[in-house]
Amino acid sequence: MALLQIAEPGMSAAPHQHKLAIGIDLGTTNSLVATVQSGMSTVLQDEHGHALLPSVVRYLEDGQIAIGHLAQAAQSADPKNTISSVKRFMGRGINDIPDTTHIPYKFRDTGAGMVQIETRAGIKSPVEISAEILYALRTRAEKALGGELTGAVITVPAYFDDAQRQATKDAARLAGLNVLRLLNEPTAAAVAYGLDNASEGVYVIYDLGGGTFDVSILRLSKGIFEVLATNGDSALGGDDFDHRIFCWILSEAGLPPLNQEDTRTLLTKAREVKEWLSENTEAQITSVLSTGKLVNIKLTAEKLVDLTQTLVTKTLNPTRKALRDANLIIEDIKGVVMVGGATRMPQIRQAVAEFFKQEPLTNLDPDKVVALGAAIQANVLAGNRSEDDLLLLDVIPLSLGLETMGGLVERVIPRNATLPVARAQDFTTFKDGQTAMSIHVLQGERELVSDCRSLAKFELRGIPPMAAGAARIRVTFQVDADGLLSVTAREQSSGVAADIVVKPSYGLSEDEITNMLKSSFGAAEQDKESRALREAIVDAERLIEAINAALAQDGHLLSLEEKSAIESQVQSLKTTSQGTDKDSITQAVEALNHATENFAVRRMDASVKHAFAGQDLNKLEL
Ligand code: AMP
Repeated sequence: MALLQIAEPGMSAAPHQHKLAIGIDLGTTNSLVATVQSGMSTVLQDEHGHALLPSVVRYLEDGQIAIGHLAQAAQSADPKNTISSVKRFMGRGINDIPDTTHIPYKFRDTGAGMVQIETRAGIKSPVEISAEILYALRTRAEKALGGELTGAVITVPAYFDDAQRQATKDAARLAGLNVLRLLNEPTAAAVAYGLDNASEGVYVIYDLGGGTFDVSILRLSKGIFEVLATNGDSALGGDDFDHRIFCWILSEAGLPPLNQEDTRTLLTKAREVKEWLSENTEAQITSVLSTGKLVNIKLTAEKLVDLTQTLVTKTLNPTRKALRDANLIIEDIKGVVMVGGATRMPQIRQAVAEFFKQEPLTNLDPDKVVALGAAIQANVLAGNRSEDDLLLLDVIPLSLGLETMGGLVERVIPRNATLPVARAQDFTTFKDGQTAMSIHVLQGERELVSDCRSLAKFELRGIPPMAAGAARIRVTFQVDADGLLSVTAREQSSGVAADIVVKPSYGLSEDEITNMLKSSFGAAEQDKESRALREAIVDAERLIEAINAALAQDGHLLSLEEKSAIESQVQSLKTTSQGTDKDSITQAVEALNHATENFAVRRMDASVKHAFAGQDLNKLEL
């Protein structure tokens, strides 16, 4: 396993050439920094011996900024200026945040952009706040390593969208870090376990933290990691276990609803008890409440298992879904990696072992495993090892596509496509002489534009005027290794091109992703019908457009009666196509096509005559 190899010849550069690179796990609750020293990935500690840096930033009265434990300690005394869990706001607009009423900060709605928070130090964006955390980790690393850093690998959840990834990169840049790569958290965990050196196969990363649950399925083949599927629950984690214990204490001790302070005290107790019971069989809960009431009860590990059984089972639903998305069965899984503090609970380990019919990998500290893997990847990217050793691939969480006629979405890159990826699709013009085309980039699984998320819009101008359907516009979607999308549109005959790097001011929330996936599964049938109807309408509009143009140009080839018969059929198709009956629209299209066949033949004859006017037909080489 990579972690046990110490400076094998050829594996690491000589010490004086060794570039200083770090891996950062920028977590919602806690963050860590690690590096590879003498072939070993190690988490770096602060001067007090702490490895975890609470992801909390406090803006003080004297203009100073406290980060980590100090900031965390002041959270209840100065909630408005002490920002925690800022990762949840990265790349998010105010409307993306589910419920701001329980959050003590003063949010500022910037309209189209990322949400901002008012503090005594002024208005701060989530990017600036995250940059403070990254800066603290950078300083810790520079002190520990005694030199300037070449760069950092920063981990992000696999489901992070473009906006969230971009915001993370911006924060790193603001903290003066050179971002070697953004790396998906599950991929980093697999690397930490040296699975890149393991035999080929499919691995599951089960990550249960304080507030979130993520499950990812990775495939290792020929030394390459590929994320096959991800799933999770953004509102399920160790905190829910604390809450179950808290409710049990209330009922066991016969307590009335508590004030905020007592609630906090008992929730902290619940958490301590939960952690204690991971190693012990029973715990005594003792606390004096603000009312003077003494709480003194015993909780056994067995009872805890009982209380939290449903939560444990709840994590298995997303796990099943991820397997289904990846088209796999349990027997296909070669290994299971446990990540996140809450996976220390024996009932979780047991449930996972039973589900996958094998013991999960737990020998690395589940809090550190992501940072350790990020450091290994940073070491490779900094050039201390050959990059061929470890090529990491991730996937797109939701399909990317383009708006086409009739408000439909044409998928260009499907969900779960491996990164980096580039796909091209050819489109054409709808009208004769069309010189511009609007490109609307969308993300989602549904068939209609209105059900997907708009990522960007831009225009391709300067298309040479041609007949409808003659221009060939190639639209290329490219997603780089960090998951950032750029789109190029090029008209093939003239070479006119336009492009855009999709950098939306804010993107999708994890819940939104989950909901979009859910609704696409549920709505597949309905979507198929809507698509068929839209397609029929587009066909009708196209035909009406073409016949009107032909009538304007060659109407003189028809008698008055013939012309008015066609016109009235065009009118009737127009009316039918405003309805929702797909079959009548299709029939009306067919009827109009049929009614204009004769006209089409006459136009063809006329244009042939025109083309060969004045030439001797016998001399033409036909
Ligand atoms: P993370 O977000 O990965 O830092 O995980 C934090 C969660 O892990 C919190 O809910 C902690 O209470 C929980 N946790 C940490 N250590 C233990 C432990 N020994 N047993 C049970 N849960 C733990």
